[in-house]
Amino acid sequence: MVQPKLIIHGGAGSSLKGGKDAVRKSLFKVVEEVYALLCSGASAKDAVVKGAQLLEDDPRFNAGTGSVLQSDGHIRMSASLMDGFAQQFSGVINVSRVQNPILLAEFLQSSPDRVLSDFGSAELLRELSVPVYDPLTEQRLKEWIDERNHNFSREMANVVAEPAGTGTIGVVALDSEGRICAGTSTGGKGFERIGRVSDSAMPAGNYASAKAGVSCTGIGEHIIDECLAPRIVIRVGDGLSLAEAMERSFTEAGNNNRDFGAIALDNSGTIGWGKTSEVLLAAYHTGSEMGDTLELPDGVITGCR
Ligand code: ASP
Repeated sequence: MVQPKLIIHGGAGSSLKGGKDAVRKSLFKVVEEVYALLCSGASAKDAVVKGAQLLEDDPRFNAGTGSVLQSDGHIRMSASLMDGFAQQFSGVINVSRVQNPILLAEFLQSSPDRVLSDFGSAELLRELSVPVYDPLTEQRLKEWIDERNHNFSREMANVVAEPAGTGTIGVVALDSEGRICAGTSTGGKGFERIGRVSDSAMPAGNYASAKAGVSCTGIGEHIIDECLAPRIVIRVGDGLSLAEAMERSFTEAGNNNRDFGAIALDNSGTIGWGKTSEVLLAAYHTGSEMGDTLELPDGVITGCR
C-alpha cells in the first residue's frame, strides 16, 4: 500500500494583497475532502476529477462557475485529464454553458476521440443530455465591463489579484496503488481573442506518467513555449529527482522571462511546486500534514511511501 499524496492549485499571478485566509480556506476544504477520498481507496483519476469538480464549483476560481469572460463577453472553458497509469490524455477546448468541463474530459478518457474543440464539445453535451448551465458570476461580469471601459488594454484578466482572488485550477494525486493522475480546468486568460486555445487542455499544461504528474497555471502561451508539464515529467522519467526536474525547468523558464507556476508529485511520494510568477496558490496533503504554498518559496516535500 502506498501513502496517498495530493496537491491542488487555484492559479498563479502577480499579487495577492489580502484575502489569504479565504483562499486557504477554499483550498483546504477541497484538499480535506479529496484526501479522505484517496484514503478510502479511490483511484487517482477519481480523486482528481472530484477535486477539479469542487474547485470548478467554487466561484472564487477561474474554472467552471466563476470563469472569466473572453473579449466578446462569452465564457469558454477548457479542461483536461491525464491518467499517468493508463498514459492517456483527454480534454475539451473552449466549451460553453456547462457546469463541470472536467466531467467531459473524464468521459472522453474512454472514447476513441479524446480531445474535442468547441463544436464537438457542444455536440457531446447534447448527446449526453447535460443540462445547460451558466457559469457567469457578477464579479466576472463586472471585471469584463470595467475592462471594456478601458478598451481591453490589459493582457490578462485579474485572476489572482484581490478581490476576485484566484485563477485556473489543477489537481495532481498519487493513490494508494501508486497511480498518478493530473487534471486542470480554466476559463482561460480572460479578455482573449475568440478561438484562443489554452494550455490547460494541452499536454503542455497538464501531463502525467507512471512516475510523475504536473498541472500548470499562468500565461498559457509561456507554458506552451516551455512545454512545461511534459518537460518536468519526462525529466523525472529520465532519472532526475522531482526536485531537480522542477529546479532545472524553472531556472530555464526564469531565464526565458516566463510567467507561470506548476504543482507536481512523483511516485516516490514527493510533492513539489514552482513558479516564476509572484504567487502560486496551492495546497497539499502529505499524509501526515496539510499545508499551502501561499507564502512559501519554491520547494518540494520529500515523500515516503
Ligand atoms: N493557463 C491559463 C491560460 O492561459 C490561465 C491561468 O492559468 O490562469 O489559459
